[in-house]
Amino acid sequence: MTTHTVNGVTLLLKQGNIVNVQVDAIVNAANAGLAGGGGVDGAIHRAAGPTVMQECRQIGRCPTGSAVATGAGNLPARYIFHAVGPIYQNQGDEPQLLAGAYQACLNLAEHHQIHSIAFPSISTGAYGYPLHLAAPIALQTVITHLQRPTSLQQVHFILFDQRTLQAYQKALQQLLTNGHA
Ligand code: ADP
Repeated sequence: MTTHTVNGVTLLLKQGNIVNVQVDAIVNAANAGLAGGGGVDGAIHRAAGPTVMQECRQIGRCPTGSAVATGAGNLPARYIFHAVGPIYQNQGDEPQLLAGAYQACLNLAEHHQIHSIAFPSISTGAYGYPLHLAAPIALQTVITHLQRPTSLQQVHFILFDQRTLQAYQKALQQLLTNGHA
C-alpha cells in the first residue's frame, strides 16, 4: 500500500477487490451501454444486486469519457459511479477520453459532496489500455483535481493485482519526481 497527501487529501494506492471497500462512492469501469460485463463491472453488479442494473437500464447509455451515478445496492457505499473509459486502439483520442472518465467521477463526487471515492484501473483490462500509459493519466487527473477546493478527503485506487499496483506506484513516483504532484 502507498499513501500520499495532496492538499490535505489522502491518496491511497492499494491492492484489493473494490467491492469490499468502505467509501461513499465506488467507481465501476462500465461500457457505454451500461450493460454489465466481465471484470470489475461483473464483480460490482454481482455484489450490488439487481437494483443497480435496473437503474442502469433506466439511464440507458453513457458516452465514452464520461460517467453516470446510481445507488449502490448491497454494497457498503452510497453511490456507484459508472465510468466509461476508451477501448485502446491507438487512435489518438484515448488519453482525453480516459482522463474524461476519471474527471466525470470527480465532478460527480463534488456534485454529491462526498468525502471518499474508490477507483479501479479504468480501461486497462478488457479495454486493453497499456498500464504504463493509463496509470499516469489516472493519477494526474486526480491529483490536479485535488489541488483545488474539494469535498473529498480520501481517494483510493483499488488495484486488483500486483502488476497493476506496481504500475500505479511507479507512475506516482515519477509524477512526484517531475514535480507534477
Ligand atoms: P475495462 O473494460 O475498463 O478494461 P476491466 O474490468 O476489464 O475493465 O479491467 C479494469 C481493471 O479492473 C483491471 O486492472 C482488472 O484487473 C481490474 N479488476 C477486475 N476485477 C476487479 C475488482 N473486483 N476490483 C478491482 N479491480 C478489478
